[in-house]
Amino acid sequence: MEYLSGHQEEEAVTWMNEAARVARGALCLATKCGTVIVKDGAIIGEGYNGPPLDKTEGRICGEEIGPSTCVHSEWRAIFDALRNNPEKIKGSKLYFVRVDEEGDTKRSGNPTCTVCSRMALDVGIDKFLLWHKEGIGEYGTGEYNRLSYEHTSEK
Ligand SMILES: [Zn+2]
Repeated sequence: MEYLSGHQEEEAVTWMNEAARVARGALCLATKCGTVIVKDGAIIGEGYNGPPLDKTEGRICGEEIGPSTCVHSEWRAIFDALRNNPEKIKGSKLYFVRVDEEGDTKRSGNPTCTVCSRMALDVGIDKFLLWHKEGIGEYGTGEYNRLSYEHTSEK
């Protein structure tokens, strides 16, 4: 993983802010996440977390204690890119961010979701970016996948 600086960091902040814009629409009551997938300076897929098909029947995360019922923002963004820009997804970059109740960006911890990491790897996304306390970290997707297995709580 590499922390970005200079022009690269500036550009990444722009895309993280786009991911935050998407996250503000999240339907989950527990946590609001947003993802944009970028290729050649344009967003090719985006998504926020929420129940399948945005349907509110059944349970929504945060209504009661239990396993997550949300589709992750990363899955949504990948599906969106596969639907609308399938030829562009190889070599793209995925930006993930959470926002708080006020819609301000939060800083992420270590990669932990091996479903997201495997999906990103399988469709050929090149880099996975998280906004850490120390700065914006850019992971190779294979590295992100490996670290997710190291950190996951679902062992
Ligand atoms: Zn995930």
